[in-house]
Amino acid sequence: MTNAPAATPATPPAGRSAPGAFGHVDTWIFDLDNTLYPAACNLFAQVDVRIGAYIAQALGLDAAAAKRLQKDYFRQYGTSLRGLMLNHGVRPEPFLDYVHDIDVSAILPQPGMADSLAALPGRKIIYTNGSKGHAENVMRRLGVADHFHAVFDIVAADFTPKPEAAPYTTLIQRHAIDPTRAVMVEDIARNLEPAAALGMATVFVDTGSPFSLPNPEAPSQIPAYVQHRITDVPAWLAQVAAEVGG
Ligand SMILES: [Mg+2]
Repeated sequence: MTNAPAATPATPPAGRSAPGAFGHVDTWIFDLDNTLYPAACNLFAQVDVRIGAYIAQALGLDAAAAKRLQKDYFRQYGTSLRGLMLNHGVRPEPFLDYVHDIDVSAILPQPGMADSLAALPGRKIIYTNGSKGHAENVMRRLGVADHFHAVFDIVAADFTPKPEAAPYTTLIQRHAIDPTRAVMVEDIARNLEPAAALGMATVFVDTGSPFSLPNPEAPSQIPAYVQHRITDVPAWLAQVAAEVGG
């Protein structure tokens, strides 16, 4: 099969978003990992190792078997934790504390980002499949903790991860969000699909990983629910803050 450009969905230009695209927004929803800080920090590599270690210890498995179960549950349940809770009665809080007890020094403080967030009108909320403690750890390191109104984490989501639809509804109800006045910023494209379905504007943070797209085999195919595609979150925030900031 040859390339057929006509069959490829229109790709939004990467980098800047369309001017004026966010004037209506009063709630800014940000994913945490690989969105608020660059994917190159590779924090998940640390979390990944700690999840495997926790499973090995909790279930008495060797490292290879624990790693297999970790990946199987991730594929089957969206998070390894949910598989552990449903199949083994693992308690979530000690698990979340352990796996997120990582070194975040690879993240560089971002004073410019704090200024941009301060200039954006409305609430800023973090929506993560990780824990609130992890979000607070990352926000402290970035120097942006004062600019977020709330963290909606995997506990708040009743352990149902993005991109399942239910927690998006919980999020907008819990925080009285009008989705037509909200934007969601996220590095995993499919996590934007339920947001778009609710009427939110969507911003895909393209980290360059084909696995952030629904079809890694065809990374040039950007799904239609991606309305804006950016590569540099601090630069984009500065641009939008200049456009809509007071
Ligand atoms: Mg992410």
